[in-house]
Amino acid sequence: MIYFDNAATTFVYPEVVEAMKQYSTELFFNPSGLYKQAVMVKNKIEECKNTIIKLLGANASSNLVFTASATEANNLALFGFAKKNKKILVSVGEHASVYNSASQLSNLGFDVDFIKITKQGLLDIDDLKSKLTEDVCLVSFMHVSNETGAINDIKQISSLIRQKSKNAIIHCDGVQAFGKLCPNLQNTDVDAYTISSHKIHGPKGVGALWFRQDLKPKTIIFGGGQENGLRSGTENTAGIVGFCVAAQKMYENLDKNRQHIKQLKQHFIDELNKKCSSFVINGDENGLPNILSVSFLGVKGETMLHLLEEKDICVSTGSACSSKHVGNRVLQNMGKNKQQMEGNVRFSFSEFNTIEEVDTVVDVIETSLNRLRQLNI
Ligand code: PLP
Repeated sequence: MIYFDNAATTFVYPEVVEAMKQYSTELFFNPSGLYKQAVMVKNKIEECKNTIIKLLGANASSNLVFTASATEANNLALFGFAKKNKKILVSVGEHASVYNSASQLSNLGFDVDFIKITKQGLLDIDDLKSKLTEDVCLVSFMHVSNETGAINDIKQISSLIRQKSKNAIIHCDGVQAFGKLCPNLQNTDVDAYTISSHKIHGPKGVGALWFRQDLKPKTIIFGGGQENGLRSGTENTAGIVGFCVAAQKMYENLDKNRQHIKQLKQHFIDELNKKCSSFVINGDENGLPNILSVSFLGVKGETMLHLLEEKDICVSTGSACSSKHVGNRVLQNMGKNKQQMEGNVRFSFSEFNTIEEVDTVVDVIETSLNRLRQLNI
């Protein structure tokens, strides 16, 4: 099997499974317990929190709350920081967990406005500037696009927001960036940042929202008061420990992996140029190498996906969470036409992929394109 869908989810590192096994068996205790075994588990969660805060390049006294997904962390950021009668700005390029939360806030009577994105899939700075006023209470935009890999300059953008809307809370969805870039949050004006475990070879069902020490989002999940009352529910200790082990490994190998994945992407593009015709690469040329979004003109991306699947190759047509929906909001907002949207396939790589796999996949694409174009489907 060739797995080129790493932006959807990743294979779990064996050392993550080992660490999770320990916290599911011998160290299974409820972290809210008062006996020493439970306190030990609670302390381990705190240790993981501090480790991840460090990896984010954030102030040691800042906050991080573990959630059951990045989707939940994004909901916590939007519903937790939104204020009635103040303006909320969200980019149209966001993942559904941010975009649909913003739409729901709008349905509930909050004042929500959407910021455009450019042809390259980046936040449109001019449009942002025109919408930043003193009464903006929240701005949410992503660090790296899950559709195209386009990287927003979070330092420059957050500084601009701070200058023009000094009381705004600046939230950034860092799900596709964490583990692949150094966010260095302390050097930015970002106030809150979302991350996910299963995109970086950690387990599914764990995410987190980081936020500055002087902030506290409104609670959206009520119950026993865990996570300082911010997120009730017994902590997923094994998942949290697994997330932390995965994050540490990603950052230990950051440069090596980035170099390898960069070569894979470049080789993929070179081979496509040699062997295939009539395709467009979507996104910014300085984007994250992990993601390659291609539109094959005159064919349906979904048909291509299934032809690749026949050869045991896994890819996706846009983000996994929205693949059942018709159309592609992000590509549409980048100004792509119907043919470009229909022919879209997303290839996303990890350190486990090889040049030989790229060669195999491009050969299958070449054969499939010839077949589909002859048949005109
Ligand atoms: N944000 C972005 C940019 C994503 O790519 C994803 C998942 O694809 C999410 C949020 C949601 O992450 P999770 O699956 O942990 O809920």
